[in-house]
Amino acid sequence: MGPGPSNPYPEVIEAFTRPVMGHLDGVFLELLDETCDRLRAVFRTDNALTFPVSGTGSAGMEAAFVNVISEGQTVVVGVNGVFGERMCDVAARCDANVVRVDADWGTPLDPQRILDAHPAPAVIAVVHAETSTGVRNDLAELGSAKGDALLLADCVTSLGGIDVRLDDWGVDIAYSGTQKCLGVPPGLAPVSVSARAMERFRCRPQSWYFDMGMIADYVAARGARAYHHTAPISMIYALHAGLGVVLDEGLEAAHRRHQHCGDLLQAGLEARGLTLVPPAEARLPQLTSVRVPESRLPRGMGEADVRRMLLDRYGIEIGGGLGPWAGQCWRIGSMGHTARRRNVTLVLAALDEVLD
Ligand SMILES: *Cc1c(COP(=O)(O)O)cnc(C)c1O
Repeated sequence: MGPGPSNPYPEVIEAFTRPVMGHLDGVFLELLDETCDRLRAVFRTDNALTFPVSGTGSAGMEAAFVNVISEGQTVVVGVNGVFGERMCDVAARCDANVVRVDADWGTPLDPQRILDAHPAPAVIAVVHAETSTGVRNDLAELGSAKGDALLLADCVTSLGGIDVRLDDWGVDIAYSGTQKCLGVPPGLAPVSVSARAMERFRCRPQSWYFDMGMIADYVAARGARAYHHTAPISMIYALHAGLGVVLDEGLEAAHRRHQHCGDLLQAGLEARGLTLVPPAEARLPQLTSVRVPESRLPRGMGEADVRRMLLDRYGIEIGGGLGPWAGQCWRIGSMGHTARRRNVTLVLAALDEVLD
């Protein structure tokens, strides 16, 4: 299938066609600085250390954890999906004392239970928008009551899609990814770190590449930048362009567009007798998880066959359930450039044709 409904913004595609220049070229460094400014705008932060880590969202997660956690320190992690699980795995590899606070998949985390889980954790870590379930977890309440702990937030699926306010909410370290609601291909992990978190950077984290103390020195050097690693030039052009599209539209308008599409899609699914999984108050507009309508699959077809058919016939890619939800639930993303009314119409019409 050729370019379908998920074709990226033309500005982003065009960015990939720009001539590749040296990564220490003054023209490129200016564009990189502007990219960091744009990231501060979408993260709603004044954090000086705000930049795209070279790597996908998971690289952002790793960079966030390795720099602030030392062996034996306590990290409280809220877990209600795949990405909370991944945080536990990453924290455990930093030899942290990981205290998990689980909530059932499909339901939001209870901030009070997280705050009560340990008297003095070094870090409290939560996924803002759980892509495996379509659930929104609250950050503001954790930020206002975190005490001496650092609040670390996964904003991979929230950034650009729903409100993210690092400074107002007291988030100390946040990371994101380019390919969710920012509408840019995968490859970079925007990260932002508060001054308070920078004070707690380990002097020798167990990673050379993701040592953010070292990167902060390069950022502070401005003008006199030197080589750390070769920046993925074309990806940074693309992120710069994608952020430009989001900010030209207006961050709030982009959030409204995601909300509107999510509302239309979710109402349309319910009107067709399908069951949405998360409770209404915790539902993300950009990721809709719906129970597989087992009794309405065409004769002889499994849920994966139906998803395959949607992709082949209509260019619509629906995610399958992850982990314990494999085969049980479908996840329909409406993110970034794909959050368009016509795409919602197309998905609903395709389901009408395909389901019994
Ligand atoms: C996609 C995602 C990640 C991981 O990002 P990759 O780009 O796949 O490495 C982490 N957290 C959440 C919430 C995600 O949706």
